[in-house]
Amino acid sequence: MIEIDAQSWREMVEHAEATYPNECCGAMLGSIDGDEKKVLVAMHLDNAAAGSQRAYYELRPEDLLRADREARERKMDLIGIYHSHPDCDAYFSQTDLKNSCPWYSFIVLSIQKGRFDHANSWLPNAEQTAAEKEELKWQKS
Ligand SMILES: [Zn+2]
Repeated sequence: MIEIDAQSWREMVEHAEATYPNECCGAMLGSIDGDEKKVLVAMHLDNAAAGSQRAYYELRPEDLLRADREARERKMDLIGIYHSHPDCDAYFSQTDLKNSCPWYSFIVLSIQKGRFDHANSWLPNAEQTAAEKEELKWQKS
């Protein structure tokens, strides 16, 4: 189960709406206690994909390292990555699977016509052949 605190959730949704019709991406920092993950910080990262970003995002390895360092400085863990799907459902695509890491949660936010619609969290398997849905909760602000 992954739970997002109110401020982080607001920042993720605002980020996803602001970058529409392009995809946004970012890192989620917080605490992990067994299967219970709590996101306390949403870190906006650049979508570094060259060319159209309407259905594609790419993270720079150095940005991911920066997020990891930031987490450690705050005595937190890097829990996962979020990105948006403009005018598309919050499913985990083949490209998402190919670019995934099995130790992170991947939250996909569906943005329809510029507004947040729904979101899912995904846990890819080690072989990167499938991802299962993880229970996702967010605190209302
Ligand atoms: Zn995607």
